[in-house]
Amino acid sequence: MAPMLRLYNTLTREKAPFAPIDPGHVRVYACGPTVYDAAHIGNARPIIVFDLLFRLLRHLYGEAHVTYARNVTDVDDKINARAAERGITIRELTDGTLATFHKDVRDLGVLMPEDVNMPGERPRFIEPRATDHIVEMVTLIEGLVAAGHAYVAEDHVLFDVPSMADYGSLSKRPLDEMEAGARVEVAPYKRSPLDFVLWKPSKPGEPSWSSPSGIAAPGRPGWHIECSAMSWKHLGKTFDIHAGGIDLIFPHHENEVAQSRCCFGTPVMANVWMHNGFLQVEGEKMSKSLGNFITIREVLNDWPGEVVRLAMLKTHYRQPIDWTVRGLEEANRTLDRWYGLVGDVSPARELPAAVLEPLLDDLNTASALAELHRLDDPASLKAGAGLLGLLGQTRSGREQASVQAAGIDVAAVERLIEERRAARAAKDWAASDRARDGLAAMGVAVKDSKDGTTTWSVIK
Ligand SMILES: [Zn+2]
Repeated sequence: MAPMLRLYNTLTREKAPFAPIDPGHVRVYACGPTVYDAAHIGNARPIIVFDLLFRLLRHLYGEAHVTYARNVTDVDDKINARAAERGITIRELTDGTLATFHKDVRDLGVLMPEDVNMPGERPRFIEPRATDHIVEMVTLIEGLVAAGHAYVAEDHVLFDVPSMADYGSLSKRPLDEMEAGARVEVAPYKRSPLDFVLWKPSKPGEPSWSSPSGIAAPGRPGWHIECSAMSWKHLGKTFDIHAGGIDLIFPHHENEVAQSRCCFGTPVMANVWMHNGFLQVEGEKMSKSLGNFITIREVLNDWPGEVVRLAMLKTHYRQPIDWTVRGLEEANRTLDRWYGLVGDVSPARELPAAVLEPLLDDLNTASALAELHRLDDPASLKAGAGLLGLLGQTRSGREQASVQAAGIDVAAVERLIEERRAARAAKDWAASDRARDGLAAMGVAVKDSKDGTTTWSVIK
């Protein structure tokens, strides 16, 4: 029997014990990135939070008994426009952006499919790409039309929202409010302003696929149908947890629910819906126009990924997070202290209960981290932090990572240290000071020990 995990469910607006449909196969879907450009720091939040959920479920139910699917949206208006601009295919564009995304999230200590999947076994982590699932999308769309929940109009297929009696059950928005929002610009082929696109014709030059029956012209899918198709293919018609950012509740997740439930005639799409809160930067909403738009890579140029991960986990995932340099500095000091404590010790075999318990309470990472601060046994600290994806390096490995993150040229540092040593031996104090200033300019501090050796570290 796994210890009791409690999760807040957006569907019921309540925290309740988590009971998987099949404890032998727990299934989780998270909406992943749209890979048209470098991911920003707000995108890193769900990736890190649901990586922690995946780690926790693996701990509770066993590594072979959890499947996590995090999709990649690799076709949409922005992707098509950017690829056309550069004169390349969308696959060429998204392959490049996806490779960057993978490097970003790997640096954030996020588990990757190659870390967890075992040859010859059911995959534990799947990263499906939308363009590899067009056939499933067309099947769903044709099923919805046949069931009377969708209709073809002017080479589009639209979901017929009034055909679903309890549409809106996830976002709990009143129908008239949703209608008022949708009424701003209603396409003439829509029967109701709330109806949303399942399939649309491609413009000349845009990528296109064979359309669902009833439409001769080739077209492309709408965004919402992608996730209904990918979760169905990899996790089934009904699964345990669907996760994503809070901004996806309406319309994206509401529409996913409508599509999947109406196609399969099921009472729910996923039993539990989890949503992470917003991220703002230094007290302001992040936006390109405010000039405070930060990519994950920009942050990783200044800070080791582990510092970013810890800074992110200090706030409970449902709370809004304020992303500040001060928060990163604090996280860095914490990791300095912890690495100093654990040294190169191996983790304890038993997880400290004090750290696990708050995580079982809807991933209360803030409390779990506070408990880690109280631990003074290095092996327990290492084990507890390991569950959060932290303290995975050795102390020397971490030092190297911060050197790399600071972009320091190690050979140049060693040259200046040698110059300084020679100058001091020759009592040329001016030259010695020049070497030290050169090192400081590179962000490096030197320390001379009594036995005559010189060590250096990165100034933070
Ligand atoms: Zn999605």
